[in-house]
Amino acid sequence: MEILDGKIVSQAVKEELRLQTAQWISEGNRAPHLAAILVGNNGASETYVASKVKTCQEIGYKSTLIRLAENIEEAILVAAIEQLNADGTVDGILVQLPLPKQINEEKIIGLINPDKDVDGFHPVSIGRMVQGLPAFIPATPYGIMLMLAHYKIPTSGKHAVVIGRSNIVGRPMSILLSQNTNPGNCTVTVCHSRTSNLKELCLQADIIVAALGKPGFLTADMVKENAVVIDVGITRVADPSKKSGFAIKGDVDFDAVAPHCSYITPVPGGVGLMTIGALMKNTFRAATQSKGN
Ligand code: NAD
Repeated sequence: MEILDGKIVSQAVKEELRLQTAQWISEGNRAPHLAAILVGNNGASETYVASKVKTCQEIGYKSTLIRLAENIEEAILVAAIEQLNADGTVDGILVQLPLPKQINEEKIIGLINPDKDVDGFHPVSIGRMVQGLPAFIPATPYGIMLMLAHYKIPTSGKHAVVIGRSNIVGRPMSILLSQNTNPGNCTVTVCHSRTSNLKELCLQADIIVAALGKPGFLTADMVKENAVVIDVGITRVADPSKKSGFAIKGDVDFDAVAPHCSYITPVPGGVGLMTIGALMKNTFRAATQSKGN
């Protein structure tokens, strides 16, 4: 069993971007610029946005963080996005999800200029991805593809089971794995909350991507010998032994499942780190693309 180490792969991705950015700037261009909007004070969102801003600094990007209060009216957020859309010095825009309930997430995502949609959630980005055209790919599935590529994990002709069908993880993951690319070319089964024979399907899988948000859901009796297991889940579970008061748990019962796998991602230290690396790749793409490259 080999651990798919998000720290190692994301460092490699960041280092490559750091060098590309230095080159880009040395050619007389300005630094890629990511603008993030954070609405409210959700603890997990604060942590994610802080690490995105920090990673921008490490790579040499400019970043701007716009903070808005939890109880703002939707119009305030709309105005902030319109301003960033019109700002020629901003290459990438991300609105940290989830948004407070008075705000329509779908509407907000649809307002982002598709050329700046570094989260890859805009319908234009999704449509381009589905057609196999150059596109901003949602960061978590993109990060998983980068990880599979880094470890040269054979995917062609394999049966992949994706558990979860959300627009940001499960659905795009299933599309990417089925595309005629490398990694890709899998036969994909998408499972969700209404799937009746999930265990049976998982036992047929060469690759399982667990993205449902239920800690320890995937147990050893659901996994075929030598399967590749990718754990996307991130759930905060109360843990008084930790200074923060919580531990981060994945969707896989890691200790029991790992001995049966050929490869497995840990939580933390797996997919989560790759997500930020992939976002940074999208940001570089947005910056260079806006110059017609
Ligand atoms: P979501 O709640 O939008 O979707 C969950 C999906 O799981 C749904 O499609 C649902 O049908 C399916 N599901 C729920 N219960 C199920 C069950 N019993 N059996 C089979 N399928 C079931 O969640 P999401 O936004 O896709 O996120 C999933 C998990 O991934 C969460 O833990 C989230 O925190 C995590 N996540 C991690 C990263 C990362 O960077 N590692 C990024 C995004 C999300």
